[in-house]
Amino acid sequence: MGAKCELCGRDMLESKGCAISNIHIGGKVYKRIPVGGSGDFLEGGPKDARCGDCGALFGHYHHWGCDCERCPACGLQLIGCECEDVYAQGKK
Ligand SMILES: [Zn+2]
Ligand SMILES: [Zn+2]
Ligand SMILES: [Zn+2]
Repeated sequence: MGAKCELCGRDMLESKGCAISNIHIGGKVYKRIPVGGSGDFLEGGPKDARCGDCGALFGHYHHWGCDCERCPACGLQLIGCECEDVYAQGKK
């Protein structure tokens, strides 16, 4: 049984990445930072990389709650940053 992303509902290891591209932080909408994107752990490649935590492929979005996703507002780890009102489609 695979783990499903609670945001997009896809199986984390069988999907290419998360289906949801925007998140709300402090009342503003931000585009999420994909695997390999600016500020991401795997910024710049390799292009066949896959997130070690949520399994998203290079160029795709991390699944919700991934340890490796960066906050597009402050650049820190999204699950540990100090930003308020972080949610996507009603999920915190
Ligand atoms: Zn997802
Ligand atoms: Zn990830
Ligand atoms: Zn933040």
